Amino acid sequence: MAYTPALARLIKLLSEMPGIGEKTAARLAFFILRSKGSYAADLGTAISAVRENTRFCSICFGLTETDPCTICDNPKRDDTLICVVEEPSDVIAIERTLGFRGKYHVLHGSISPLDGRGPDELRIKELLRRMEPGTVQEVVLATNPTVEGEATAVYLARLLKPLGVEVSRIAHGVPVGGHLEYADHVTLGRAIEGRRRM
Ligand code: ZN
Repeated sequence: MAYTPALARLIKLLSEMPGIGEKTAARLAFFILRSKGSYAADLGTAISAVRENTRFCSICFGLTETDPCTICDNPKRDDTLICVVEEPSDVIAIERTLGFRGKYHVLHGSISPLDGRGPDELRIKELLRRMEPGTVQEVVLATNPTVEGEATAVYLARLLKPLGVEVSRIAHGVPVGGHLEYADHVTLGRAIEGRRRM
């Protein structure tokens, strides 16, 4: 027996998500089909709302529903310290450590010549503009410990150091070849504590 068209469509869409194979997609689809009350409708609304209500902060380029975001807008956060990350999900990962009181800047990627991704495709100009008022004293480069992340950190250090800001790099603790968002909060917390000057 074949799936109904609606079920087949839902399974196809779900199976496009990362880490979801067709079997899991079918299980999820049947779960939604059998769900009680307004679950299916609520799920549909939540999926639409996430795209409609979420945008990028015009200062740090992290995810937000208000502009500027609550981190950029928080006077208790240290204006002199900026942590540079690759993706918005990295901000969430570092915030979970509760160990960082500065502000963020999201690059939206890393330099990867093999994939044809150069510095101009990242939010680097916007980062440099944030250095202009002269309030920033230290920039922590928290790009991923991958080849691309390291290359991006080296590139940024070269741009930032002549501007008179201290440049540091997150240290050991985050597994090499790994991604920040998958590191546990203790490991990531230690990596931030043990950052080193570049
Ligand atoms: Zn922001």
